[in-house]
Amino acid sequence: MLYTSTRGGDTADFSTAVLAGLARDGGLFMPQTIPDVSACLPAWRTLPYQQLAEEIMRLYADLPPADLRRLVQNACAAFPHPEITPMRTIGELRLLELFHGPTLAFKDLALQFLGGLFEYLLERNGGRLNILAATSGDTGSAAIHGVKGRAGLRIFVLYPHGRISPAQELQMTTVPDDNVHTMALQGTFDDCQQIVKTLLSDLPFRDRHSLGAVNSINWARILAQIVYYFYAAFRAMDETGCAGVRFAVPTGNFGDIFAGYMAWRMGLPIRRLILATNENAILARFFQTGVYERGPVRATISPSMDIQVASNFERYLYCRLAGDTTQLRSLMRTFAQTGRLQLPAGPGGVVDPLFCPGSADTAATLAAIRACHDRHGYLLDPHTAAGVHVARQFLHPEEPMICLATAHPAKFREAVRQALGRDLARHPALDGLDRRPARRNVRPAEAGAVREYIERHT
Ligand SMILES: *Cc1c(COP(=O)(O)O)cnc(C)c1O
Repeated sequence: MLYTSTRGGDTADFSTAVLAGLARDGGLFMPQTIPDVSACLPAWRTLPYQQLAEEIMRLYADLPPADLRRLVQNACAAFPHPEITPMRTIGELRLLELFHGPTLAFKDLALQFLGGLFEYLLERNGGRLNILAATSGDTGSAAIHGVKGRAGLRIFVLYPHGRISPAQELQMTTVPDDNVHTMALQGTFDDCQQIVKTLLSDLPFRDRHSLGAVNSINWARILAQIVYYFYAAFRAMDETGCAGVRFAVPTGNFGDIFAGYMAWRMGLPIRRLILATNENAILARFFQTGVYERGPVRATISPSMDIQVASNFERYLYCRLAGDTTQLRSLMRTFAQTGRLQLPAGPGGVVDPLFCPGSADTAATLAAIRACHDRHGYLLDPHTAAGVHVARQFLHPEEPMICLATAHPAKFREAVRQALGRDLARHPALDGLDRRPARRNVRPAEAGAVREYIERHT
């Protein structure tokens, strides 16, 4: 499979696209074709997670089959649950638990795979890679746990100072490995992400320091996330006898839900994608009105969704414009200059009938945590709770609703305590982290300061 940049100026094979992260023209890599797997669905339906992952990934990744198998198995070995992503029925919803990995958020599913994949590709071509990552909290820790101690890799993680949860910060700053660097920048997540883009777009700097990316701009992350949409849809259809499903996805950078969109494009019978945001509702507004307009970032109790500029949205635009890179470049230029872009509504006056947008403010999120705990004795983290809140507005009797449970509640203890008045959310992986030595490295949110730090440490 070959990959093309959404901006039309770069083409790469799978390995190059993965090692580069961002295309050289500033765009995101997209596969040149999206395979239609409708005919494979009956045979795939009963496969265990690992085998299903292999079947899906080999369509996109040109790797020797035995190597791909080993990479998938090693990534899955970081998940102690036999089903990797188990699903629970909670009232009229299904909760797909994506948090059984080492840092208790769904990002482990992609980053355990990507860490191994990087190491493998570098071993093959004898190179080194310095990974640059911006995080709203969960990507950073998952990326660190995916690459710590691996040969040929070093990682620099930028996160917004004071805007992530204490557990999230400790999961990053207590990792002692020499190949791990963290920087708490005095700004927002969007500032961090912009600095990553600026440094990766500076091609001489990027080449000199062999910089790569693990944000969901990296195609391999989307790829790894496509798998659980298939796995969960098969389970839900088997359990109910229904012919199609709905997914509710708490959304920030549009990465996770874009993987769902890809699964739909490949032929999985996803009838609706429920897009849930918090108060930072730029994406929900877009799918309601066709206008994509950035505003100030608001800090909320679901910090991993405190994002205004969603990188992967560009991939969606590219699909919507049927690969018209000239038009896409012009839209992105307008957005960079004015903070606004507009897409004409399609037939029926809606932007895209597949997407059901909605948002949950703090009160609604806390109420969803409370209601779920009171009725079912099940704890939701605040991101999952935002998804559950919006999902309830789009239930359908013939189409089971699968809500992605993106983090374990113990990662966001404070929000759970606020909802229930009691500190119930605990996990052994987090207990005791605050007694470990932490390395916190606070810096101004300036590309120059980050550039200089990287120069000194590579
Ligand atoms: C990252 C994250 C999200 C948002 O995912 P995107 O791919 O950025 O849309 C939602 N919930 C949790 C817990 C996260 O860590």
